[in-house]
Amino acid sequence: MRYIEEFRDPEAAEGVLAAVAHVADEIGATSDTPVHIMEICGGHTHAIFRYGLDKLTPPGIEFIHGPGCPVCVLPMSRVDECVELAERPDVIFCTFGDAMRVPGTVKSLMQAKAEGADIRMVYSPLDALELARRNPGREVVFFGLGFETTTPSTALTIQQAARERLTNFSVFCNHITVPPPIKALLDDPHMVLDGFVGPGHVSMVIGTTPYEFIARDYGKPIVVAGFEPLDLLQSVLMVLEQIRDGRTEVENQYSRVVPKDGNPVSLAAIADVYETRPSFEWRGLGEIDASGLRIREKYAAFDAEAKFGIGYGSVRRVVEEPEGCACGQVMTGRIKPTQCPQYGRGCTPETPLGALMVSSEGACAAYWQYGGRRGLEAAE
Ligand code: SF4
Repeated sequence: MRYIEEFRDPEAAEGVLAAVAHVADEIGATSDTPVHIMEICGGHTHAIFRYGLDKLTPPGIEFIHGPGCPVCVLPMSRVDECVELAERPDVIFCTFGDAMRVPGTVKSLMQAKAEGADIRMVYSPLDALELARRNPGREVVFFGLGFETTTPSTALTIQQAARERLTNFSVFCNHITVPPPIKALLDDPHMVLDGFVGPGHVSMVIGTTPYEFIARDYGKPIVVAGFEPLDLLQSVLMVLEQIRDGRTEVENQYSRVVPKDGNPVSLAAIADVYETRPSFEWRGLGEIDASGLRIREKYAAFDAEAKFGIGYGSVRRVVEEPEGCACGQVMTGRIKPTQCPQYGRGCTPETPLGALMVSSEGACAAYWQYGGRRGLEAAE
């Protein structure tokens, strides 16, 4: 199987692990003085735990899990607005399955569906567009969610809806961008970060140039990485080598997929359909300047915020986190999931308090899936 088996080869992995251990020694990384490497992407967090890389790498390397799970960083007020939209009798609300179980203040979309709301799980915004064509008497709203990875497909769908002059299709836009939260973390004096493993899928769209400020302005190495175990090990090695050599650069380990300048077709669609919001609220990080996208005026007919008078287009709601919930601290890498007082107690995959426990890219879900209660017991 080309491009998969060779990136899971145990012998090759042993060689890279030996090199990682050697460079970690050279720079004096120990469990008392670890190197803190943040993997920004939730997909990387899951790969690290799925393949046991946190156990295989030397104790002097500490993985800090970043805010790269779009479902997890969605503030509860936005989940509430999804439920509000979905419960309108004229609306068919379409979402990716990942968002169904994310708790809102009162209920999740799953609970709203159980109570009768017409909520459909889709695999693509084009599925929602097809529903709009087939249901001209209903309003079809697509929950546009995600980083630059999913932003182009929503943009292309809006362009298609405009070409077809559909009047019953709109997007509740919650698309966000990766570089601003990295900057916010780097500006936080309490964060200790020595380097980054950069997101692979996002970079496939935006390229590697948008990360240059990390190396240039903050003096931190970043290596854009793939998702197989050897991709991640090699990326960790590249970060360590930069630290050893006193270099701070943007390097691309995932060059078989990520072009330096990104994907021009996707970038053009994004530029045509969206503009940057002045700021956007992130769960755990608060409002971050220029970190969210909204639909441009010329596509306002397809903007659910404008159409239904919700979200950033109207009065914003402030929603408190559930008591004892440490989602914000986990999301920003300040604590590990097992250090959240609710992990495995008030919060499990069956009774989630936070999105991190149910999203396929959530850090708490990764710990639970690959460590379960063992992780909790180890923390006790
Ligand atoms: S265990 Fe639950 S409440 Fe705690 S951080 Fe994870 S998702 Fe949030």
